Amino acid sequence: MSSDLLEFHGIVHSYGPIRAVDDVTLHIRRGKVFSLLGPSGCGKTTLLRICAGFLRPRAGRVILDGNDITDLPPERRQVNTVFQNYALFPHLNVYDNIAFGLRVASRPEAEVRREVGRMLDLTDMGEHIRKRVSDLSGGQKQRVAIARALINHPLVLLLDEPLAALDLKLRQRMLVELDTIHDEVGITFLYVTHDQGEAMSISDTIAVMNKGRVEQIGSPAEIYEAPRSSFVAAFIGDTNFFDGVVREAGGDYCRVGIDGFGEVLFFNDKKVRVGGAVHLSLRPEKLLILAAEPETPAESHNVVKGVVEEAIYLGSHTKYWVRVGEYRLAVHRQHRRFLLDEKPMQWGDTVWLEWHADDGYMLERYSEADEELLSLPDTEYGSGEASAGTLFEEKPAAENAP
Ligand code: ATP
Repeated sequence: MSSDLLEFHGIVHSYGPIRAVDDVTLHIRRGKVFSLLGPSGCGKTTLLRICAGFLRPRAGRVILDGNDITDLPPERRQVNTVFQNYALFPHLNVYDNIAFGLRVASRPEAEVRREVGRMLDLTDMGEHIRKRVSDLSGGQKQRVAIARALINHPLVLLLDEPLAALDLKLRQRMLVELDTIHDEVGITFLYVTHDQGEAMSISDTIAVMNKGRVEQIGSPAEIYEAPRSSFVAAFIGDTNFFDGVVREAGGDYCRVGIDGFGEVLFFNDKKVRVGGAVHLSLRPEKLLILAAEPETPAESHNVVKGVVEEAIYLGSHTKYWVRVGEYRLAVHRQHRRFLLDEKPMQWGDTVWLEWHADDGYMLERYSEADEELLSLPDTEYGSGEASAGTLFEEKPAAENAP
């Protein structure tokens, strides 16, 4: 038995001149949660609909459990979909919604009762069986939709932004529940979302999509720690980009000259040559922010001097923007102690940033347009004013002026 349950081979789909899916090949392992993650319009739903049989691709094949299902109608595929808007039958109660699939398949009523009972237990909806779906909360509707989709044991459950209609707290709870349900039923999930947090927390594997193409496939940690392109680095989490020229190569590290910044060491896992241009990504939490210059920086560490331009207190950590030459670096400082005891850095403070050369990552592909995906203080938080309360000093009025 192959470990790949679902395969997409060279899938292409267009709507008129719009190439929604552009030569996508994916291998989805049996029993795993595989997510398609990307911004609105990148082609995730189109791919999901091709898998469900609602759309026929212009080119490419879909293989399920070793069988080519590309030309099969939806009802002959062993896949079910949970839609963002739930798509429940409003005239049926909870029980009848969940029972629907088995009744259509003309299963005996005793089996329907038993299986619906199992689904009600799985989704913790037992006490609501006679309620009309219009009387349910968003989270309860979502559970009914999941139960209805799982009842006839599909090989793959397709989930199209299943939590998008729920508020943040409920979304977080449902995510945990979905994970538990997945562990219990062991069915392969193909999960579509634009939310990186959702994808990171539920997936075994993520395919990051951009403009109809797959940018990178990997585990959540691989995608986050070792992004191949500037798109992935900026779309998943936050980062700092640098353009540099290799000054010295050889061994594990290369020395990179960055115009308007200085010379730094970066881990060298690519085939670089002296004089070659490189693009680098450095996550904000990899940088240590220090109020005094370290006396002897540890081996393979970089240290640069800068000035704090913005500080935004976020509870568990503070996000700083630090000016170093022509660069403005995002830095996260975790609050391991009570804030006053930590003596937080303030606007205008001179600071030193230190990081290990291993913690920066060299990108294979870079596009300046991807920098638009990064959060900036003024766009993320409105006016750029800190929310630090009384533990931080107020930013001087003159600097607050637009
Ligand atoms: P979203 O999360 O917003 O649904 P998505 O990543 O799922 O985005 P798709 O819905 O697959 O993306 O859309 C991919 C591209 O195809 C977009 O440019 C979209 O505008 C276009 N598109 C999708 N459906 C149609 C359609 N029925 N007719 C024309 N264009 C479409």
